[in-house]
Amino acid sequence: MQILNGKEAAQSIKDALKLEVAQLAANGKEVPHLVAILIGNNGASETYVGAKVKACEEVGFKSTLIRFEETVSAFKVLETIRDLNRDPDVDGILVQLPLPEHISADEVITCIDPAKDVDGFHPNTIGKLVLGQPSFIPATPYGIILMLEHYKIETKGRHAVVIGRSNIVGRPMSILLSGSGSYGNATVTICHSHTQNLKEICATADIVIAALGRPGFVTEDMVKEGAVIIDVGITRIADETRKSGYRISGDVDFPAVSQKASFITPVPGGVGPMTIAALMKNTFKACAVKHYE
Ligand code: NAP
Repeated sequence: MQILNGKEAAQSIKDALKLEVAQLAANGKEVPHLVAILIGNNGASETYVGAKVKACEEVGFKSTLIRFEETVSAFKVLETIRDLNRDPDVDGILVQLPLPEHISADEVITCIDPAKDVDGFHPNTIGKLVLGQPSFIPATPYGIILMLEHYKIETKGRHAVVIGRSNIVGRPMSILLSGSGSYGNATVTICHSHTQNLKEICATADIVIAALGRPGFVTEDMVKEGAVIIDVGITRIADETRKSGYRISGDVDFPAVSQKASFITPVPGGVGPMTIAALMKNTFKACAVKHYE
């Protein structure tokens, strides 16, 4: 069994990007600029946005963090996004989810200029993904593809089971794996809360992508010998023995499942860092397009 080390793979992607950014700067070109919008005080969101800003610094991007109180109006958020859409100095815009209940995530995402949609959630972006046209790839599925690529794990002709059908992870992941691009050509089964015989279906998978947010859901009896296991889940579980007061759990029972897997991602240190590396690649792409226009 081999651990798919997301920290290491993400670092090699960021190192390569850092060189490309240095080259842009040396040629007198603008470096990529990512703007993140954070609404409210959700602890997990704070952590994710902090990691994204830090990654920007690492690779040499400009970054701006715009914070709003939980009570900010939808109008104010949309107005800010429209201003950022018009600002030629801004290459990528991301709005950290989840949003307060009075703000529609659909409306906010749709307001972002698709050319700056580096999270890859805009309907235009997803539409192009479905059609196999060049576009941004949503950051988490893209991070998983980059991980498979880094470890040279073949997807062609294999049976991939994706558990979870969210618009940001499961659904785009299933589209990429079933597409004809590199790291596609798999036969894909997508499972959700109404799937019957999920255990039996999962046990036939060569590749399992667990993205449901249920700690330890994928157990040893659900995976076949030699399967590749990608654990997307991140759930905070109260733990008084930790300084932070919580620990992070994935969707896979790692100790038992790792005994049967050929490759497996840990949580933390697996898909999480790859998601951020993918976001950096998307932001670089958004900026590079400008330089070649
Ligand atoms: P989500 O929007 O809550 O979607 C969860 C999906 O799992 C839904 O499609 C749901 O089915 C399905 N599901 C829930 N319980 C199930 C069950 N018992 N059996 C089968 N399917 C079940 O979640 P998400 O945003 O995709 O995130 C999933 C997990 O990934 C979360 O833990 C999240 O924190 C994590 N995540 C990690 C990263 C990263 O960078 N590592 C990025 C994004 C998300 P229905 O559609 O039928 O309700």
